Amino acid sequence: MEQNNKNISRRKAIKYLGLGVIAAAGGYTLAKSSLFGDKIKKEVEDGTLKMATRTDKATGKEVSLLGYGCMRFPTYDTGEKDQRGRAIKAIDMEQSQILIDYAYANGINYYDTAYNYHGGKSGEAIGKFLSKYPRESYFLANKMPTWLIDSPDKPKQLFEEQLTKCGVEYFDYYLLHALSSQEAYDKAYEENKGYEYLLKEKEAGRIKRLGFSFHGDEAFFDYMLNKHEWDFVLLQINYIDWKEQNAEYFYNELEKRGIPCMIMEPLKGGSLANLTPDANEILKSVNPDDSIASWAFRYAGSLPSVLTVLSGMTKMEHLKDNLSTFKNFKPLSEQEREALAKAIEEFNRFKQIGCTDCKYCMPCRFGVDIPAIFAAYNKCVKESNIPDLSAPRDSKFDKKKKAFLATYKNMVPEGARADKCIDCGRCKPMCPQKLDIPKLITDIKKLVKELED
Ligand code: SF4
Ligand code: SF4
Repeated sequence: MEQNNKNISRRKAIKYLGLGVIAAAGGYTLAKSSLFGDKIKKEVEDGTLKMATRTDKATGKEVSLLGYGCMRFPTYDTGEKDQRGRAIKAIDMEQSQILIDYAYANGINYYDTAYNYHGGKSGEAIGKFLSKYPRESYFLANKMPTWLIDSPDKPKQLFEEQLTKCGVEYFDYYLLHALSSQEAYDKAYEENKGYEYLLKEKEAGRIKRLGFSFHGDEAFFDYMLNKHEWDFVLLQINYIDWKEQNAEYFYNELEKRGIPCMIMEPLKGGSLANLTPDANEILKSVNPDDSIASWAFRYAGSLPSVLTVLSGMTKMEHLKDNLSTFKNFKPLSEQEREALAKAIEEFNRFKQIGCTDCKYCMPCRFGVDIPAIFAAYNKCVKESNIPDLSAPRDSKFDKKKKAFLATYKNMVPEGARADKCIDCGRCKPMCPQKLDIPKLITDIKKLVKELED
């Protein structure tokens, strides 16, 4: 198995986390014994602490650094099924209203919805939740569904529908949604005149600030920034994607041009709410009372050009944990950045194998149970139980070795283990995930042999 043993020096570690950096998202499971310390909890609940804000320089208005993503409200099962037989869920309006009221009372003033969230019901829901508050006391963001613009009259039709659903007369922030290719952008916004229409709405005051959310490559990003003037951009930024998805490039381009940045996926789909036990331990040793998720939010919020960090908070515990981070907000210190760099290095040391258990590679004519071997390996990665062969043979190593071999032997029957592989290569072209199965199996075979010798 390939070990990602980048020995990040102290200086490199800081660079990895973003040079010059001073400091939203999915539902997730909080991986900590205490949500947050009693002192902080009391200060959050009695209103002593103030929500961190950033100023949108163009409007002079203060935007809460924590924004509410409206794509993951609590839901309930309606008992009905869709055409594919999947359970149809509806927004739990009562529980969601409680969350929004709590968020609003604690200083969150940015709410981000989109045409397609919750099967098209999110806009209507957030409009209703916020209708009891003065319109000028919060910012409502919505997005044009790029993929639905197939004619020049579509943008107007969709935009009017969104205003009606949300029950508002204007959107504070409005985005071209999910731009991933120049071809799709050109078709929707140039050929079908989506951009021209939205610009007119901005001039008419029904859009206060116009931007886009982005999932494309560097060339397309440059194209977008050069094509028109933008008031802000919504980017996927977190401490893994900073390097792996080149978020660093996108963010720096915005900073250079003085364009405010909004952040989505600060927790990378929830995966940064709980790293591996060894990586968690590094962070806990620095801030024992802080959640693992709070490191990801502080990382995102420490970037100076960021206006707001979105989080889709499904449960009150998510909301309270995030409030404890953003009220009393502290950018990551140098010492914390060093700890985070070490935790990332540890987290990346052994990567899980992207096997989806589809079994297209099976059967192996030599009896190797490929998906079972990968599942055993992945379990050990998640539990920090892959012994590092370059590490000293101490008690920690022995503990991992024992746990790894036990898991491997429990999950993969004798006769189906990696030692039966003859590296014939027949399985490789069968894998839709493009895994180099023979190499991965050979690496595991070598690891097991080394541990057993
Ligand atoms: S390479 Fe190994 S696992 Fe793949 S088919 Fe051949 S023997 Fe089986
Ligand atoms: S084909 Fe690839 S993804 Fe599917 S079970 Fe085999 S290794 Fe896993």
